[in-house]
Amino acid sequence: MKKVLILGSSGSIGVNALNVIKNFPDRFEAAALTVNSRIDILEKQVEEFNPPLVVVKDDEAAKKLRKKIGNKCEVLSGINGLIKAAAECEYDILLGAMVGFAGLAPTLEAVKRGKRIALANKETLVVAGELFTKMADEYNAEVIPVDSEHSAIFQCLVGENKLEVEKIILTASGGPFLNKSKEIFKTVTVEEALNHPNWKMGSKITIDSASMMNKGLEVIEAYWLFGMPPEKIEVVIHPQSIIHSMVQYNDGSIKAQLGLPDMKLPIQYALTYPERLKNNFERINMPAIGSLSFLQPDMEKFKCLKIAYDVLDAGGTAPCVLNAANEIAVEKFLTGKIKFSQIPEFITEALNKIENHTAPSLDVIYECDNRTREFVKQLS
Ligand code: NAD
Ligand code: MG
Repeated sequence: MKKVLILGSSGSIGVNALNVIKNFPDRFEAAALTVNSRIDILEKQVEEFNPPLVVVKDDEAAKKLRKKIGNKCEVLSGINGLIKAAAECEYDILLGAMVGFAGLAPTLEAVKRGKRIALANKETLVVAGELFTKMADEYNAEVIPVDSEHSAIFQCLVGENKLEVEKIILTASGGPFLNKSKEIFKTVTVEEALNHPNWKMGSKITIDSASMMNKGLEVIEAYWLFGMPPEKIEVVIHPQSIIHSMVQYNDGSIKAQLGLPDMKLPIQYALTYPERLKNNFERINMPAIGSLSFLQPDMEKFKCLKIAYDVLDAGGTAPCVLNAANEIAVEKFLTGKIKFSQIPEFITEALNKIENHTAPSLDVIYECDNRTREFVKQLS
């Protein structure tokens, strides 16, 4: 029996992960569940999955939850609660399904304990990739990607020699604005940007997908996960989201991983790797799909993707600035304070303003994240 700690169990990845766990009751159980504010969802999850420990946003939320569930399980709160859960509770796998920079600290605790990290929270690798991968090596923590593209690449690399890889081809759906002109970025509504053609996800990653910042973050994620230089990481638009990504080898051969756009499959793989367990998820019907198409991404239109490549070249704390600026800009867009077209503008301003530090320590990363947030908050 493997015990799984889920950081962010009320979110899109967290809920899918609990569905996977439910499918294999004799293989997996919930060791701890954490949410930010949705204690209504957590209450139901406690009822169904019986975790010995949960973590919520603050003392007030903890009090509310205790009133509802009594002493069915231990209830902790805040960032200290998250860190304590990852550092002390008994578990085998940490599923990083929180969104944003906040997931970094508890995930690093799991790395220090040499746990398997099933990683959906790409922001942790973007902001602290160098430190994270160094620590994972040092503490023998196995990092298995959950992000569908990186799960695909990981699967294509099984049994292969990494030195024989010519390039990684990350596929991107292109999001809701693929076939629209860039002029509309000044006027698109939040609702239009949240209307992703293929995937149902949390709001932050859905906006990132519309701006293609998501693919930019994924280029940086791939750089750290697979140790590939930026020039060997190519992005190709594939609107059907059936090929989740590909690896091209020295002999020109390309391996691809295919699946329906459903995160349950990469989540299951990250939990069961190297095994493949039989499930009853829907299968692809190839004739029904008919055809798959591919296009070059337009970096002039999707500026965020270009910025991410530039930031990867710059290294140091530049990816941390990019991430923090993007998190604040996306929040501002979602609350109607700025235009969609201002997201890359704010990120560029922050990158110009905040100086870069090479090989940053955790303290430097925190300071840089903080400074960037403060700077972008006052932009309008
Ligand atoms: P979501 O918004 O649906 O869920 C986020 C979860 O994190 C929730 O449980 C929320 O309570 C928790 N959370 C948010 N802020 C927190 C904070 N400050 N402190 C503690 N908990 C907090 O997001 P999601 O779509 O499930 O995405 C989660 C992560 O997985 C993101 O990093 C995203 O980029 C990545 N990811 C998601 C998908 C997907 O299909 N949804 C695919 C690939 C990667
Ligand atoms: Mg992805």
